[in-house]
Amino acid sequence: MLTQKQLSWKQERIEQVNRYLEKDKRVDFIDDALIEKLIAAPSILDRVKIAELLAKSKSLKGLSPEEAAYLMNIEDKQTWEEIFKTAMEVKLSVYGNRIVLFAPLYISDECVNDCVYCGYRSSNKEIKHQGLTDDELRAEIRAITGAGQKRIVAVYGEGPENDADYIAHSMNVIYSEKNGRGEIRRININAAPLFVEEYKTVKAAGIGTYQVFQETYSKSRYRQLHGTDNIKSIFNWRLFSQHRAQEAGISDVAIGALFGIYDWRFEVMGLLYHAADMDREFGVGSHTISFPRLNPALNTPFYTKNKYKVTDDDMRKIIAILRLSVPYTGLILTARETPELRHELIKLGVSQIDAGSNIAIGGYQKGRDASKEQFQLSDNRSLDDCISELVDEGYIPSFCTADYRCGRVGCEFMELAKSGNIKNLCIPNAVLTFEEYLLDYASPAVKVKGDKLLSDYVKFVRANYSETMAKNVDAYLARIKNGERDLYF
Ligand code: SF4
Repeated sequence: MLTQKQLSWKQERIEQVNRYLEKDKRVDFIDDALIEKLIAAPSILDRVKIAELLAKSKSLKGLSPEEAAYLMNIEDKQTWEEIFKTAMEVKLSVYGNRIVLFAPLYISDECVNDCVYCGYRSSNKEIKHQGLTDDELRAEIRAITGAGQKRIVAVYGEGPENDADYIAHSMNVIYSEKNGRGEIRRININAAPLFVEEYKTVKAAGIGTYQVFQETYSKSRYRQLHGTDNIKSIFNWRLFSQHRAQEAGISDVAIGALFGIYDWRFEVMGLLYHAADMDREFGVGSHTISFPRLNPALNTPFYTKNKYKVTDDDMRKIIAILRLSVPYTGLILTARETPELRHELIKLGVSQIDAGSNIAIGGYQKGRDASKEQFQLSDNRSLDDCISELVDEGYIPSFCTADYRCGRVGCEFMELAKSGNIKNLCIPNAVLTFEEYLLDYASPAVKVKGDKLLSDYVKFVRANYSETMAKNVDAYLARIKNGERDLYF
């Protein structure tokens, strides 16, 4: 239950938000009736139209939400196989065969909201509702960097304990914690929607991406799941979170939906309209899109009662349609999925995964604990085990954090991606950061096969990139072998 301090903070915040929204001129871009209509009817199999849409996807022009809706409702298996194949081709042509790795870090499960699907909801008496002290946070960072991670997404509940000042403070703690050669070089944030001035506070602390997930884009479903007296009950406050963040100068923002709390087709459409509206206003859509699937959580009966479960086959379709629709947007696949399914889903156009994840508050130090977790993970492998599998499949694991530190964010990043030039930087940076991992953290078995993969990629760079880039990669690798770290293009 909420403390008096949390209750007063929540009430005051709701009033501030409502006053802000009364003056906000932005127009809601989710037309529920239109989306329901678009996803309602099965699509008639029209091979000419499908061929045109797949050709458009391959040319990296993306699909409109209406075109995506048409493909989503195709029932023909052969067409889906073609869609899956095209999705992988699109991913390869934008980013190359690299997978970016990160770790989620849950900093606080204190939250004033009461979302029925969430283990952290304020009415859940079986959750501990606590945050990390600075010392505990440093210990978590040492555990994460000790495994070899360089980027994290820091996750916070909503409340007075997790306001913008605290988020900025915790980021400072994280960036300042060095662990031998280990350090966090990019912090992405997953936290509550903020006001523009508050986003500026977080930006000043050196943010990578600010993520806010809408959970569901259906307004009627949203109302059912978020109550009437919570900050999170206010749909438009959340819907325009990323717009306000961009207004504050945070160029890389991220959207997502919690798949499995409403019809998955509606959520895909909502994500596409969301990205399109940001593109319209700021000239750049979402930096990444996440599509976590609803998982069980301690003392959260909603999971079993809910009727909108998403099947594994639906997950394949969700990822492929997103990849065709927004070819330049990073797609993040989380450890909510099993190792076996992740192995398969990565092929459909995923560009980032978390690995070695532990989502209990303090869990990297103390191990898994359901009473401190927002939901259950299904992939509990170590970072090294995840990397081992990526290497077996020929992907180059990447810990690259160069883009935002070089100012390649927002529109500038998209320009590079659209001109086909981002992979000219992604693969070399993946090579450099993977070499660091192999030298400092890899198990003996991963070191042997990782070295072989790395030398194949170095040959690839020599054969396919400019002479200057090839020479620079060789020179940087020699410097890394000599003990230097954090070299990037
Ligand atoms: S989903 Fe987020 S906002 Fe809702 S109760 Fe959980 S932590 Fe709080």
